Amino acid sequence: MTMAPAATTTANPLDDARAQLAEAVEVLGLPEGLHRMLATPRREVTVSIPLRRDDGSQDLFIGHRVQHNFSRGPAKGGIRYSPHVDLDEVRALAMWMTWKCALLDVPYGGAKGGVRIDPRHYSSAELERVTRRFTSEILPVIGPAHDIPAPDIGTDEQTMAWMMDTYSVASGYTVPGVVTGKPVSLGGSLGRATSTSRGVVDVALAALDSKGLKPATTTAAVQGFGKVGRGAARFLAEAGVRVRAVSDQYGAVINTAGLDMPALERHVDATGSVVDFAGAEPLDGDALLELDVDLLVPAAVEGVLTAENAPRVRARLVVEGANGPTTPEADAIMAGNDVLVVPDILANAGGVVVSYFEWVQANQAYWWTEAEVEARLKERMLGAWEAVSAYAAEKELSLRTAATAMAVERVASAHTLRGLYP
Ligand code: GLU
Repeated sequence: MTMAPAATTTANPLDDARAQLAEAVEVLGLPEGLHRMLATPRREVTVSIPLRRDDGSQDLFIGHRVQHNFSRGPAKGGIRYSPHVDLDEVRALAMWMTWKCALLDVPYGGAKGGVRIDPRHYSSAELERVTRRFTSEILPVIGPAHDIPAPDIGTDEQTMAWMMDTYSVASGYTVPGVVTGKPVSLGGSLGRATSTSRGVVDVALAALDSKGLKPATTTAAVQGFGKVGRGAARFLAEAGVRVRAVSDQYGAVINTAGLDMPALERHVDATGSVVDFAGAEPLDGDALLELDVDLLVPAAVEGVLTAENAPRVRARLVVEGANGPTTPEADAIMAGNDVLVVPDILANAGGVVVSYFEWVQANQAYWWTEAEVEARLKERMLGAWEAVSAYAAEKELSLRTAATAMAVERVASAHTLRGLYP
């Protein structure tokens, strides 16, 4: 299970998401009515989730599922378990899913869900009961043709197995297609668990190359050591990049000569944190973002690069493993300082791309090898990187505005072709 994140520092991720949309709408010259539709979720469900605890007492949590858009297909997006979940955060994450799916041209809309719970404080049996109750509460709005959840922060393939089982029991037959990110033995895809990290590194290496940087002479820092950051750090190191520092919610560690990643992973498996790793010095978590490295990969939560710390970012390249780590103000500051930011909807799209591959393989009843999954993922990621870079260069836009505009244009075009009902 991925560890719960530290508190977010952004004022409101929905404001950030809407500001990014407004910029794309302006580039595209879309009408105001369409803009308002794209700024507003199609459907939101908020539920309460009573939990019978192992000790017999009763607890209660609030959960959300927000479906932002269906124009290009069923809504799609992860389920987050974190004490910081709130409705505006889920709305922002749902909107980013719509753009991510459109940008990578997978046939989905966008959604996101979350339960305001710190999963570290509950037993596996309690988390199973929370998951089953949450699933049954949102059951009317999810389904393989409606909305397909997947893992996100604080959830994993076991969570997806429980969701799939709960939905299947209610249907009277097994419905594997209601979620992606399932265990391989239940119809999941090989390579799904590491797909977001693989995609981040595919794009990071391409972006480094565009700046004339070679992996062997590049240094990096990775914020977050969960589902995305851990794999990103590992694959960067395997590509020859010197990963100097990593962090998790408990702290950060640094070794300027480069962290011994296999040893660090063994330490994390044994202790649950990067803190106290013998092959490194302790580091302040916030200082990691300002280190003298070539590449910075924020792979934790929203709003960590802000107007306050962006002027001190020394990396030449920021590749967003997390959703929404950079506020619009920080974007502008880093652009002014010639820091290239590869946006989340491009950089971390590998997860949903392999979710789509999971669905494709299930439909074909033909399973690809892990190497095939990774090769097809890389092709998609590099294709999107090339397309966004070319669009940005042609229109003289940031990579984020280019990526968002390309995605918004596809969603707007699908919406316009379908027309308004009634
Ligand atoms: N939670 C992941 C994301 O933010 C994956 C979502 C999915 O596969 O549907 O992109």
